[in-house]
Amino acid sequence: MRALTVAPGIADSAQVEDYPDPPASDGAVLVRSLVLGVCGTDREIVSGHYGWAPPGRKRLVIGHESLGSVVRAPAGCGFKAGDLVVGIVRRPDPVPCPACAVGEWDMCQNGRYTERGIKERNGFGSEFFRVEPDFLVKVDPSLGVAGVLLEPTSVVAKAWDHTERIGHRSRSWRPRTLLVTGAGPVGLLAALMGAQRGLDVHVLDHRNSLLKRRLCDALGATYHAESLQNLNGFEPDILMECSGAPAVVRDVLGRTAASGIVCLVGVTAPGHDFDIDVGALNRTMVLYNNTVFGTVNANRAHYEMAGEALVRADRGWLNELITRREPVEQWTRSLERQPHDIKVIIDFAST
Ligand SMILES: [Zn+2]
Repeated sequence: MRALTVAPGIADSAQVEDYPDPPASDGAVLVRSLVLGVCGTDREIVSGHYGWAPPGRKRLVIGHESLGSVVRAPAGCGFKAGDLVVGIVRRPDPVPCPACAVGEWDMCQNGRYTERGIKERNGFGSEFFRVEPDFLVKVDPSLGVAGVLLEPTSVVAKAWDHTERIGHRSRSWRPRTLLVTGAGPVGLLAALMGAQRGLDVHVLDHRNSLLKRRLCDALGATYHAESLQNLNGFEPDILMECSGAPAVVRDVLGRTAASGIVCLVGVTAPGHDFDIDVGALNRTMVLYNNTVFGTVNANRAHYEMAGEALVRADRGWLNELITRREPVEQWTRSLERQPHDIKVIIDFAST
C-alpha cells in the first residue's frame, strides 16, 4: 500500500512509499483511508522540527486527522464494515500517570504518551490503517467528507469543556460574548461552537478574507480584519486564542471582562520576547478574577462532543472549510500555504 512517510528531524524528507500492510499490533479494526487532513503540526514534522519515528525505525508514517471506512472488524467490537470512522490520535503513557490511568491521556503528566503520526507511532497517512476499537470513533454518515474535521474539532471541544468547567467556579457565570483570535480551521470551529452556545461571537483575523467573512456571517458572528487594539476596548467574557501568533498572545492577556477566561489553543515557538507590564497584568487578573489557561489534544469524551457539534452544524458551512484537496502522489503540496486555504486534505479515495 502507499504511505506518506517522513524521517523526523530531517527537513524535506517526505515521500510516498510502498509500505507493508498495517500490522495486527496496531489494532483489531482494519480501516481504508478516504481523506486525511493536514495541519501546522504536519508542517512542523515535514520541516524537521517535530515528530518521532516508532522505536527502532528511521521513518514515520505521518497523518493524524483521519477519515476512513471500516473494512473488517471483529464481531461484537462495536464497529462493522462500512462504518465511517476517525482514529483517536493519542495513546496513554505506559506507566500510566494518574491522568492516563483514568482515560484522560490529553492531560498526561509525564509526557510519555505516544501519538499516531506524530510521536513514536505510525499515523493514518496510508491507504489502510489499523486501530484498537477503544481508540476509534464513529462518524455520522451524513457528515461525509466533513467527518475529517472531527479531530481538529475534538481539540476545540476540549477547549470549550475546560472553559465551561472554569466558568462554573462561580454560580453566577453567564457568558454572553466570545472573541476568537485567528480564523484558521480551529478558530472557525471555536466560533461555530460559540454560536451553538448562543454567544455573541467575534472573530479577529490578521487579514481580510471574503470566504472567512462569509463563514462568520453565516454563524451570525462578526468578522474583524484588524488588530486587537482597534476593537475599542471590547472585553469579551471568553477569549479563545487560536492564532498562535506571539504578538496576539501578548495582546489577549488581561483583555477580558471581569471573571473573564482566556483559553490558549494556538501553539507558539519559543524565542519571542515582548515587553509586558506584569504589574498591570497581575493587578487586572487578581482584581477581576481572570483566568488564562492552555489546552491541547483531546480524550475520547471530547471526540464525542465534537461529533455532536458537527452533526448540529450546517453541512454546507462545514464543507466550505475544506478549501483544497490534493492527490496522494502530490501530498506535499497540501503543506504549502496558499492564500485562501482553510483546511487542506489529501484524497486517498480518488485513485
Ligand atoms: Zn500520562
